Amino acid sequence: MASTTGPRVEVLCQQAGEALAERAARYGVADVLARVVAAASRGNVPAADLDLLDSAFAEHGIDHLTRAYRSFQPWPGARNVVVTAWVCPTGACPRVATDKPPSCHLTGQPFRETTVEL
Ligand SMILES: [Zn+2]
Repeated sequence: MASTTGPRVEVLCQQAGEALAERAARYGVADVLARVVAAASRGNVPAADLDLLDSAFAEHGIDHLTRAYRSFQPWPGARNVVVTAWVCPTGACPRVATDKPPSCHLTGQPFRETTVEL
Protein backbone atom coordinates (compact mmCIF):
# COMPACT_ATOMS: atom_id res chain seq x y z
CA MET A 1 0.00 0.00 0.00
CA ALA A 2 1.52 3.28 -1.08
CA SER A 3 1.64 6.13 1.39
CA THR A 4 -0.23 9.40 0.97
CA THR A 5 2.85 10.93 -0.65
CA GLY A 6 2.84 8.13 -3.26
CA PRO A 7 1.60 10.26 -6.19
CA ARG A 8 4.31 12.84 -5.53
CA VAL A 9 7.00 10.17 -5.27
CA GLU A 10 5.68 8.73 -8.54
CA VAL A 11 6.42 12.03 -10.31
CA LEU A 12 10.03 11.86 -9.12
CA CYS A 13 10.23 8.16 -9.97
CA GLN A 14 9.44 9.03 -13.59
CA GLN A 15 11.42 12.24 -13.87
CA ALA A 16 14.36 12.01 -11.51
CA GLY A 17 17.85 11.65 -12.87
CA GLU A 18 21.13 13.46 -13.21
CA ALA A 19 19.47 16.78 -14.03
CA LEU A 20 17.38 16.61 -10.87
CA ALA A 21 20.37 15.71 -8.69
CA GLU A 22 22.46 18.46 -10.27
CA ARG A 23 19.77 21.10 -9.70
CA ALA A 24 19.11 19.89 -6.16
CA ALA A 25 22.81 20.41 -5.42
CA ARG A 26 22.76 23.86 -7.04
CA TYR A 27 19.64 24.88 -5.11
CA GLY A 28 21.09 23.70 -1.79
CA VAL A 29 18.77 20.74 -1.24
CA ALA A 30 21.02 17.82 -2.19
CA ASP A 31 20.68 16.59 1.40
CA VAL A 32 16.88 16.70 1.13
CA LEU A 33 16.96 14.75 -2.14
CA ALA A 34 19.25 12.17 -0.52
CA ARG A 35 16.75 11.81 2.33
CA VAL A 36 13.90 11.38 -0.15
CA VAL A 37 15.79 8.65 -2.03
CA ALA A 38 16.62 6.84 1.22
CA ALA A 39 13.04 7.18 2.45
CA ALA A 40 11.65 5.92 -0.87
CA SER A 41 13.79 2.82 -0.55
CA ARG A 42 12.33 2.25 2.92
CA GLY A 43 8.78 2.67 1.59
CA ASN A 44 7.49 6.00 2.89
CA VAL A 45 8.57 9.53 2.00
CA PRO A 46 7.57 12.30 4.45
CA ALA A 47 5.58 15.13 2.86
CA ALA A 48 7.79 17.69 4.63
CA ASP A 49 10.84 16.67 2.58
CA LEU A 50 8.86 16.79 -0.68
CA ASP A 51 7.65 20.26 0.33
CA LEU A 52 11.26 21.35 0.90
CA LEU A 53 12.22 20.11 -2.58
CA ASP A 54 9.19 21.81 -4.13
CA SER A 55 9.91 25.17 -2.52
CA ALA A 56 13.64 25.11 -3.31
CA PHE A 57 12.88 24.42 -6.97
CA ALA A 58 10.04 26.96 -7.00
CA GLU A 59 12.51 29.65 -5.88
CA HIS A 60 14.34 28.95 -9.15
CA GLY A 61 11.28 29.03 -11.37
CA ILE A 62 10.40 25.33 -11.38
CA ASP A 63 6.95 25.14 -9.89
CA HIS A 64 5.20 22.04 -8.62
CA LEU A 65 8.20 19.72 -8.95
CA THR A 66 6.42 16.82 -7.27
CA ARG A 67 2.87 17.74 -8.28
CA ALA A 68 1.43 16.17 -11.39
CA TYR A 69 -1.74 17.60 -12.81
CA ARG A 70 -3.33 14.31 -13.56
CA SER A 71 -6.07 12.21 -12.12
CA PHE A 72 -7.25 8.74 -12.86
CA GLN A 73 -10.68 7.31 -12.36
CA PRO A 74 -11.15 3.58 -12.00
CA TRP A 75 -12.49 1.91 -15.09
CA PRO A 76 -16.17 1.01 -14.47
CA GLY A 77 -17.53 -2.51 -14.65
CA ALA A 78 -16.25 -5.97 -13.90
CA ARG A 79 -12.54 -6.59 -13.77
CA ASN A 80 -11.41 -9.85 -15.21
CA VAL A 81 -8.41 -8.92 -17.31
CA VAL A 82 -5.05 -9.74 -15.79
CA VAL A 83 -1.86 -8.42 -17.32
CA THR A 84 1.77 -8.65 -16.47
CA ALA A 85 3.08 -5.37 -15.22
CA TRP A 86 6.09 -3.93 -13.50
CA VAL A 87 5.85 -2.03 -10.26
CA CYS A 88 8.21 0.39 -8.63
CA PRO A 89 10.45 -1.44 -6.16
CA THR A 90 10.08 1.32 -3.58
CA GLY A 91 7.02 0.82 -1.44
CA ALA A 92 6.69 4.62 -1.48
CA CYS A 93 5.55 4.90 -5.07
CA PRO A 94 2.46 3.64 -6.93
CA ARG A 95 3.98 3.77 -10.42
CA VAL A 96 3.10 0.78 -12.62
CA ALA A 97 4.31 0.12 -16.16
CA THR A 98 2.79 -2.36 -18.56
CA ASP A 99 4.87 -1.97 -21.71
CA LYS A 100 8.40 -2.81 -20.64
CA PRO A 101 10.30 -3.22 -17.40
CA PRO A 102 11.62 0.24 -16.51
CA SER A 103 13.53 1.31 -13.45
CA CYS A 104 12.88 3.79 -10.67
CA HIS A 105 14.66 6.98 -11.68
CA LEU A 106 14.70 8.09 -8.07
CA THR A 107 16.53 5.11 -6.59
CA GLY A 108 17.85 3.46 -9.77
CA GLN A 109 16.35 0.10 -8.81
CA PRO A 110 14.78 -2.04 -11.55
CA PHE A 111 11.02 -2.55 -11.44
CA ARG A 112 9.58 -5.77 -10.05
CA GLU A 113 7.37 -7.99 -12.23
CA THR A 114 3.84 -8.59 -11.01
CA THR A 115 0.32 -9.16 -12.32
CA VAL A 116 -2.38 -6.53 -12.23
CA GLU A 117 -6.14 -6.94 -12.54
CA LEU A 118 -7.59 -4.39 -14.93
ZN1 LIG B 1 8.85 4.70 -8.15
